[in-house]
Amino acid sequence: AAPIALVAGMSRTSKNGIIVKTGTTIEKLAQAQSAAFDKTGTLTRGRLEVDTIHAETPWNQEQLLLLAASAEQHSGHILARSLVSYLGPDVLQPVTNLKEVTAQGVEGQVVGKMIRVGKLKYVTDQPIKSLSRTAVYVSINDQFAGWITFLDQLRPETPATLTELKQLGLQRLVMLTGDQSQIAHEIGNTLPLDEIHGNLLPADKIQILRSVKTDYNPIIMVGDGVNDAPSLTAADVGIAMGEHGATAASQSADVVILKDDLSKVAAAVAIGQDTMRITK
Ligand code: ADP
Ligand code: MG
Repeated sequence: AAPIALVAGMSRTSKNGIIVKTGTTIEKLAQAQSAAFDKTGTLTRGRLEVDTIHAETPWNQEQLLLLAASAEQHSGHILARSLVSYLGPDVLQPVTNLKEVTAQGVEGQVVGKMIRVGKLKYVTDQPIKSLSRTAVYVSINDQFAGWITFLDQLRPETPATLTELKQLGLQRLVMLTGDQSQIAHEIGNTLPLDEIHGNLLPADKIQILRSVKTDYNPIIMVGDGVNDAPSLTAADVGIAMGEHGATAASQSADVVILKDDLSKVAAAVAIGQDTMRITK
């Protein structure tokens, strides 16, 4: 398309709070045949409410929450941010020797104790049964100490946005998540999705993206977190969502949505298609 038209398209998206970094992205948005979405924080709400807390003896719920949130205070992961905002930043204890493992969890020293927070397998080798809920597990000094579950609720705009993308001509809509498969299906089955994949590591997400792209090219990837950066890069159009998307994932993205509003993804595709129609 004529560069001037693409610039016009970019100006229209930016008026909608959608930052498109290059003109060729407008063309890719217009041509997109498929879109893949991260679940937590993308199809579901940008902040999760803490639901239940279970502490093993000798710990209590308050101690578990404080130690976990303190260990998580520097993490950009959505579960970490949800924990910190639930407790409030003022009560947190300092964390040292901090280590974060992408898509697994964090470990660090808090009030002289070694804390791990994250996936069950990352936190402990003990034979603990995993919950069928979105959760983080906690260990203290290498002993399993409990778990915290979250309410992972669909964004109100998610069903209509996916329906609109289908109406705009996208053939294949896919959920990709690091969360457990059972949870992925529980949430995804209510949506007009063609594929639902759970239990994924960042590298698995890229592999699935490439295989969907083989038949449905070009592909859009929508994500919110720093752990989504590799898949945003691997897609033809990487879209970073939300307030923290704007910091965590935006460098790897071709499109940054400034508002925490998934419907902007469909708006971006619609504007892309309009722009290309006008230039023909
Ligand atoms: P998603 O694809 O749904 O965004 P991620 O790949 O980011 O999921 O993470 C997968 C799982 O790893 C999370 O559900 C969580 O259990 C765990 N996890 C990753 N990072 C953290 C962290 N900083 N704190 C706690 N748990 C984490
Ligand atoms: Mg995520």
